[in-house]
Amino acid sequence: MAITIERERIHIKKGDTVEVMGGRQRGKRGKVLKVLPKHGKVIIEGVNVVKRHTKPTQKMPQGGIVEKEAPVYGSRVMMVCPKCGRAARVGHGYLADGTKVRVCKRCGEQIEK
Ligand SMILES: [Zn+2]
Repeated sequence: MAITIERERIHIKKGDTVEVMGGRQRGKRGKVLKVLPKHGKVIIEGVNVVKRHTKPTQKMPQGGIVEKEAPVYGSRVMMVCPKCGRAARVGHGYLADGTKVRVCKRCGEQIEK
């Protein structure tokens, strides 16, 4: 029987600004371009940019080097709170009408969306 590894659920959404907390990219901030829930990773604009050599195509007959963001583990990034501007853990709260919202655990403010 296959063992299912319980992955940490990603609390980050596309469009969030995040800060990398570990690894070589530590301290870098950027906007989340894509979330890869299956892999537990996120792609962040301008973070972990790798150069890829591409084969010649009709557009680029000589081939070329394309710079592309490589995914970063979601557990290594933290949301940057738009209210207090600090990297913070995200909690959940409910509005009076029952809507679930994300809340910054540092300043307690509701995070948009
Ligand atoms: Zn905050």
